[in-house]
Amino acid sequence: MGLKNKKSLGQNWLKNREILEKIADYSAYGIAEKTGVGLEKRPLCVEIGPGLGYLTTSLLRRFDKVIAIEYDDRLAKNLPASFPGTNLEVVHGDILEYDFSRLNEPYVVAGNIPYYITSPIIEKVLTAERLPDRVVILIQKEVAERIVSNKETVLSLFVKNRARVQAGVIVPAHEFTPPPKVDSQVVVMEPFVTGPVVSDEVFELIRRGFASPRKKLVHNLAGMADVERLKVIMGEIGVLVDARPGDLGLTDWDNLYKKLER
Ligand code: SAH
Repeated sequence: MGLKNKKSLGQNWLKNREILEKIADYSAYGIAEKTGVGLEKRPLCVEIGPGLGYLTTSLLRRFDKVIAIEYDDRLAKNLPASFPGTNLEVVHGDILEYDFSRLNEPYVVAGNIPYYITSPIIEKVLTAERLPDRVVILIQKEVAERIVSNKETVLSLFVKNRARVQAGVIVPAHEFTPPPKVDSQVVVMEPFVTGPVVSDEVFELIRRGFASPRKKLVHNLAGMADVERLKVIMGEIGVLVDARPGDLGLTDWDNLYKKLER
């Protein structure tokens, strides 16, 4: 197709069918499940940024219905014509404005998303009033690695607080047209139906603790409690006194909050 890509909208098309099929398999059946032919179709997939519909093709094979949210008016207008006779609904709009609570059946979110809104998308899908069963998105590899690693960031803790997360297939930059500057990787998130692991108050503490991510935690929290007391508490919860905020896992933050509260 002779369509010019809009860089500002993160338009990088992925055409490798094998990878697209894998992303669609993750979306329908999860990352650890047996996948492939013969499996029952899943009810509903909300696709973020279908673009020209490369991933949409693979999703339609595994879902009874796909609702595809596309911001680019021209792409949104042209997409339905590429999928005659299928159960595809194209919504012209911004994914960040989309109201998931209007859906009245279980759903999965999938997409080769525009990277400039990775964090807002993750935040939105994991805090939806009606949570998706699964979220399968292709993001920058570096960000995917940070989300799943033990060296935490506010984003990784946010994700781990609300979902089981696993990294999937790596997609090298050259697989895209035009190639982006960085490699990509799939992340698969399965939101906890029981709600977040730690409370909003604990998460407030996490945000304060990361005020200067490279500095020591005691430095970041110095305004909250006496430094000597902080050090004692850290010892009690089994965290080294010169730890950086990224060294603490969710449970550590939870423990820290409880001790500080006293
Ligand atoms: N999934 C497609 C294209 C990925 S590129 C593929 O695999 O080929 C990212 C897509 O997201 C583009 O189509 C872009 O127009 C769209 N997009 C950008 N910002 C968006 C937003 N805020 N809401 C929905 N779609 C958006």
